[in-house]
Amino acid sequence: ALTIGIAGLPNVGKSTLFNALTRATVLAANYPFATIEPNVGVVPLPDARLTKLAEIFGSQKILPATVDFVDIAGIVRGASKGEGLGNQFLANIREADAICLVTRAFADPDVVHVEGRVDPKDDIETVTTELILADMQTLEKAIPRLTKEVTGKKTPKETLDAAQRAYALLEAGEVLSNHAAEFDADTLRSFQLMTSKPFIYVFNTDDDGLADTAMQQELRDFVKPAQAIFLDAKFEAELVELSEEEAREMLEATGQEESGLDQLARVGFDTLGLQTYLTAGPKEARAWTIHKGDTAPQAAGVIHTDFQRGFIKAEVVSFDDLVEYGSVAAAREHGKLRQEGKDYVMQDGDVVEFRFNV
Ligand code: GDP
Repeated sequence: ALTIGIAGLPNVGKSTLFNALTRATVLAANYPFATIEPNVGVVPLPDARLTKLAEIFGSQKILPATVDFVDIAGIVRGASKGEGLGNQFLANIREADAICLVTRAFADPDVVHVEGRVDPKDDIETVTTELILADMQTLEKAIPRLTKEVTGKKTPKETLDAAQRAYALLEAGEVLSNHAAEFDADTLRSFQLMTSKPFIYVFNTDDDGLADTAMQQELRDFVKPAQAIFLDAKFEAELVELSEEEAREMLEATGQEESGLDQLARVGFDTLGLQTYLTAGPKEARAWTIHKGDTAPQAAGVIHTDFQRGFIKAEVVSFDDLVEYGSVAAAREHGKLRQEGKDYVMQDGDVVEFRFNV
């Protein structure tokens, strides 16, 4: 499964957030297919549509999609030179598919800040600078090798050009994920750079920060086009200890519509380039994870490889149509049950039954 690495400077609340994530981890009993490791938080993707589907189909169980978060050792200034846990950190971050950068935006004088002051923008720059420096080192090794390969006609010249353009952007202090559109995706991925991974910014803040929309807008603009989430890690850690109902009341009392963890799961899932489709029956209502742009046979393959191999067609009704007509049969009578073939690209909210040969 694709994973999101939780990274950031020391003492910003990473462990607090990660502990909340692991406590929100879905029960292994319901997810026999998921290998749940101690340093991985497997968090359910909130999806109110599943509750509605379970009502319509009388499903016994609800199985949401999940998002995997991995704890990554803290980064410090100088990590790109191998200081602190530098090397370990860089190795871990290379394995993650997206990076969730946690930044401190809470004041608390009792919690020491490694740089002696709370300045989210400056902290982001400290961390991204280390990643940029490490990426430059990677390219400094790769470019001479690529140059030789181009001479020997083993590598197309475009690849070397891309490496040189990437290097120039890094040298100018740019994070490559903000320039992904300027590169061929596979070529950029082949360089295995850290700043070409998608970033999510989590600002760990307090009540004042959660109410300060001006500050939030400023930081959102600062990290654009990446997405920003504002949450209180300590509060989130308390929320996961409560029953669903208590948690909802607590959120309402603080004027929040959705917990920070739910926001993080949603934004993380989207940032990984994932989407879901839905299936439902008397046994379970379930969301299945696919990549954005996947076709119907690829989607079927997530349930079982036989479904993909023997794919005949997908019977699809949109969630909204299903809710409007109240049942698959009624949706069919109104011409809302679509028969889709092997080239169909799955859409968000598709409720599907696959037909296949075995
Ligand atoms: P890490 O080093 O980034 O993993 O940070 P920790 O999660 O260990 O947090 C460092 C310290 O900050 C701990 O004493 C936490 O209790 C405290 N802390 C974490 N999140 C918050 C928060 O949202 N508000 C306040 N006031 N303290 C926090």
